[in-house]
Amino acid sequence: MSDDAEQTTDAGDGDEASEVDLASDVWVFIEEHAGDTMAVSWELLTEGRRLADDLEEDLVALVIGEDVDDVATEAIERGADRVLVADDPVFEPYRADPYGTQFREMVEERNPGIVLIGGTHTGRDFAGRVAVPAHAGLTADVTELDVDDDGQLLARRPAFGGNVLAEIVCPEHRPQMATVRAGVFEAADPDSEAVDGDPADRIERVDVVVDEEHTVTEVLERDVGDRADITDADRLVAVGGGVEGNLDPAIELAEALDADLAASRKAVDEGWVEGARQVGQTGKTVRPELYVALGISGAVQHIEGMNDARTVIAVNNDPNAPIFEHADYGIVGDLFEIAPRLAVLLDEETDPEEVVQ
Ligand code: FAD
Repeated sequence: MSDDAEQTTDAGDGDEASEVDLASDVWVFIEEHAGDTMAVSWELLTEGRRLADDLEEDLVALVIGEDVDDVATEAIERGADRVLVADDPVFEPYRADPYGTQFREMVEERNPGIVLIGGTHTGRDFAGRVAVPAHAGLTADVTELDVDDDGQLLARRPAFGGNVLAEIVCPEHRPQMATVRAGVFEAADPDSEAVDGDPADRIERVDVVVDEEHTVTEVLERDVGDRADITDADRLVAVGGGVEGNLDPAIELAEALDADLAASRKAVDEGWVEGARQVGQTGKTVRPELYVALGISGAVQHIEGMNDARTVIAVNNDPNAPIFEHADYGIVGDLFEIAPRLAVLLDEETDPEEVVQ
């Protein structure tokens, strides 16, 4: 966007309509750090494909990083029409200033209609640096996306403590930006056969506008401890109020299953488990192959976060607990007796469907 256009937007006169009309294409930011691409980026690319098809516009992947050619090619294989690549050592490791500056420049120059960014620490960190100067609407922590008949983005997210689902629109400014929660959408697999022609023809290297002279980086240490990302886990053992602060049976079962530990909000609120492991409406959305719920009642806000698990095993001493309505296998009994027995029966090599009858 030029300075003139910015002034026009600020003035709020009739030219704002042209800003909206001229904007087009759906952009998805592909987040990569030192060779690892965040799963949410591929989830968003699949969802972006659906929106772009509805709008009959291009799906454009944005890749910022160092030595990211493979990521760009993968974005084409996962459905992007085009990829814009800003490849430079200044982008590794991540810092908000270079990312924000580069991203903002690209947005202002090319005027996309929609920009989707994973709601990761990185995405949340720099999205505002793009949205504020561009006068864009930015909706955070989105869990549903759609477009209406006028081609306007409908971004939905839990609001007022999760009691309502708010639908947020941005009618007067572009781009319409959203940071989107990880694990909500499913990612399509890469398919090189489906690519028409040479992927390289669809990858454009853009000018890097960040001046390295102004930045100094010194990496001292990166210690991520044992804080697993439960949205990536294949197997989860989740604890609820029923464990009453004793995590031993759950940890033992998780070790036997090679699973990560997750929790209901009750277990987090009580301080038994860290907040990063909470599943549900105000926690994480997970899609593991196996979800074992120990002493979890099955409140609707919890179910919302784990309903797409492939196989659910629930252990609860209340036969009427709602969790059983969402379980493939329900065991009525005391979790302190059942969990150790499950740990013996199930190990990481065993298909739970063969064992639990
Ligand atoms: P409890 O309700 O205490 O249930 C414990 C269960 O364990 C009971 O069913 C009981 O029968 C069983 N039990 C007890 N002892 C044993 C035993 N020895 N062996 C076997 N079973 C036993 N919750 C979430 O989880 N995630 C969210 O993101 C979330 N977001 C929320 C957002 C809002 C706006 C609100 C209002 C609530 C939210 N909640 C969320 C809270 C939710 O409504 C429930 O209060 C919470 O999920 C209850 O957790 P729980 O089932 O683990 O605990």
